[in-house]
Amino acid sequence: MISNPGTEASSPDIATRDQGEPTAVLAAAERSLMSDPGHRGRFAEFGGRFVPESLIPACEELEAAFRDARIDPHFTQRLSHLLDVYAGRPTPVTPAPRLSAELGITLLLKREDLAHTGSHKINNVIGQSLLAQRMGRTRLIAETGAGQHGVATATAGALLGLDVTVYMGEVDTARQELNVFRMELLGAEVVPVTTGTRTLKDATNEALRQWVSRTEDTYYCIGSVMGPHPYPWMVREFQRVIGREARQQCASLLIRGVPDVVVACVGGGSNAAGTFAGFVDTTTRLVGVEAAGGAAMTDGSVGILHGFRSQVLQDEDGQIAEAHSISAGLDYPGVGPEHAALGGSGRAEYVTATDEEVVEAVVRLARAEGILAALESGHALAWILRAVASGDITPGSTVLMTLSGRGDKDVSELRKRVGT
Ligand SMILES: *Cc1c(COP(=O)(O)O)cnc(C)c1O
Repeated sequence: MISNPGTEASSPDIATRDQGEPTAVLAAAERSLMSDPGHRGRFAEFGGRFVPESLIPACEELEAAFRDARIDPHFTQRLSHLLDVYAGRPTPVTPAPRLSAELGITLLLKREDLAHTGSHKINNVIGQSLLAQRMGRTRLIAETGAGQHGVATATAGALLGLDVTVYMGEVDTARQELNVFRMELLGAEVVPVTTGTRTLKDATNEALRQWVSRTEDTYYCIGSVMGPHPYPWMVREFQRVIGREARQQCASLLIRGVPDVVVACVGGGSNAAGTFAGFVDTTTRLVGVEAAGGAAMTDGSVGILHGFRSQVLQDEDGQIAEAHSISAGLDYPGVGPEHAALGGSGRAEYVTATDEEVVEAVVRLARAEGILAALESGHALAWILRAVASGDITPGSTVLMTLSGRGDKDVSELRKRVGT
């Protein structure tokens, strides 16, 4: 978080422990799950708005603008039009017949890899960029780790004629040179961040800091269900299209109408949140799969990071731990607050997959179905394979997995690890 951006530059990523704000005012059961978290933006005791005073008016203005836009037919029609004609929605649900036969289940894949730019991230950035335009902003800023959200934001900026500046940890700019160039090709400026560990959490701190200093013309486009209220709610709503479509598609594909299990990978948790939103009111089992090296739900504790309270990977002093996994898109040391609440209430389960399991799962899917999935998405499949083997998923079950992105970006990483 940035509790005091002017003076805390040397250690901006310290996760402040509970600061005595009233908590747990909204028992999860009092509100229907995955609905409007209210003006305080709470998901049970998680979420909220832990930002410097100077950023409160900008958050409030954003919340008001989003509340207004989401019920304005001009906005919702423009958004769904762009999602259709530009982003390529609806994305199909593809049965995986050969893998299904091998596993003794019915496996369905929600194909976000087929969306423009190759992942679900475009759903959110088009929504937020339209909102920025509606608010009269001319400039988008974004944080990025591996570069995927930066590329998506640069894309939406080009589409709508908005300037784009992307903050990226210096270490990541070196690791992801090609994505830096992709953003530049799309007309964005990429700013290397040299504070802290020079990775995603530092880039996020820097983007928040830049937003504080320039809210008049600048819109901060956050890449997942994280950040201060209204972001976790707003990003989930922009990703809800995944779950809404999948629910309809399952209704026509499955006898029971809904799958027995819905599985998605979790970095910040946006593709999972969008997917779960379509099924949370059913008896379908919801499973989120984190990277074993960055499992905030499994290994984290309650803390505050980047303006919200959630499960966070931190040491005893509240110092943020580095997340490490084969897929840079899951290397976020926290998880969206709504997932912390869904896990706490038991409505969703959170599990992990290791790098080795992920590589095996991605290769198996490629060879069985001709679909090269992103390593992030491979986590969801890795857990499915393990759960079928252990009997946690019973034979004959129907399983819907969100395939969050395509694997082209991961080919060189796979090449290092796969013997052909
Ligand atoms: C960024 C990314 C993720 C992780 O982000 P979430 O907010 O957890 O969805 C997962 N899959 C792909 C392909 C990504 O690019």
